[in-house]
Amino acid sequence: MKKSAANKESAATEKSAASGKTPASEKSPAKSKTPASEKTSAAKKTASAKKAAPLKRQAPAKKPAVAPKKAAAAVKGVAPAKTVAPKPPRGESRTALVRRARRIDRELAEVYPYAHPELDFENPFQLVVATVLSAQTTDLRVNQTTPALFAKYPTPEDLAAAVPEEVEEILRPTGFFRAKTKSVIGLSKALTEDFGGEVPGRLEDLVKLPGVGRKTAFVVLGNAFGRPGITVDTHFQRLVRRWRWTEETDPDKIEAAVGALFPKSDWTDLSHHVIWHGRRICHARKPACGACPVAPLCPAYGEGETDPEKARKLLKYEKGGFPGQRLKPPQAYLDAGGRPAPPLGAG
Ligand code: SF4
Repeated sequence: MKKSAANKESAATEKSAASGKTPASEKSPAKSKTPASEKTSAAKKTASAKKAAPLKRQAPAKKPAVAPKKAAAAVKGVAPAKTVAPKPPRGESRTALVRRARRIDRELAEVYPYAHPELDFENPFQLVVATVLSAQTTDLRVNQTTPALFAKYPTPEDLAAAVPEEVEEILRPTGFFRAKTKSVIGLSKALTEDFGGEVPGRLEDLVKLPGVGRKTAFVVLGNAFGRPGITVDTHFQRLVRRWRWTEETDPDKIEAAVGALFPKSDWTDLSHHVIWHGRRICHARKPACGACPVAPLCPAYGEGETDPEKARKLLKYEKGGFPGQRLKPPQAYLDAGGRPAPPLGAG
């Protein structure tokens, strides 16, 4: 897409989001990954956004520093923000909310340019199974468990015919292993019997599979089929509330409210950015506000640690200098200095 066209589309979508309507350009399915040209354009827009006047609602005496671009793009590069608390966005108009939400996403895209699904998978079947297994545990634990599962049961037909007790033994480290065994065998049977052994690419079919809800379905649609979807997990719910993107508490309503703030083509990457930020910096109990690149745009700044040094010690995964969650991370993550997770039982 040419730059001028991209800008026009961006302006149109911001306008449409501000009015709460879905622009025509969003009605057709879009790619899950933002093309490089768009990312470049987004980076340029971010630069200009940084130069723009600060939001009226914040009016901080001194604007907290946003991570420098180079540092932000590097794996460990989250520069500390200064300890200045912005004011909450009282009476923020919808247009201002749309702009602020998109600025936050653009900042996060710079901080996590390598953001990706943190479950290891090689095909849609592996992704749907891994996503079901990720309930109530970390993606890391799932990634450490699935190699043995997929080595023994590489296809839906294999898993559908498995002896449950044998699957339970493999899945034990993920917790709730009996219920998860039932789900993955059940969904494998459904895939085999109803979908010819293939994972369906439609929301209405996916949610009929045992153990698959909207959240899992959108993970699969967005990351295995390139169909835009918003993944409303626990991190997403917490962060959008902190950012006051919506006051909704029901995941389906959050999905609709946040979806209306962004072009559909951004939904999958937006989900990654928000979830990555929740896992690395904006933690549930102690957010690292003093090391947060979106502090100037966040009404909840100060909810966590604001001292830059102390905040930096709270950072997790690659931002804290630790291994990531995937045993087989994408090349972009490795190129940025990220490290793979160790296999189960290693050191
Ligand atoms: S609460 Fe703190 S860590 Fe979370 S986004 Fe706001 S400033 Fe950043």
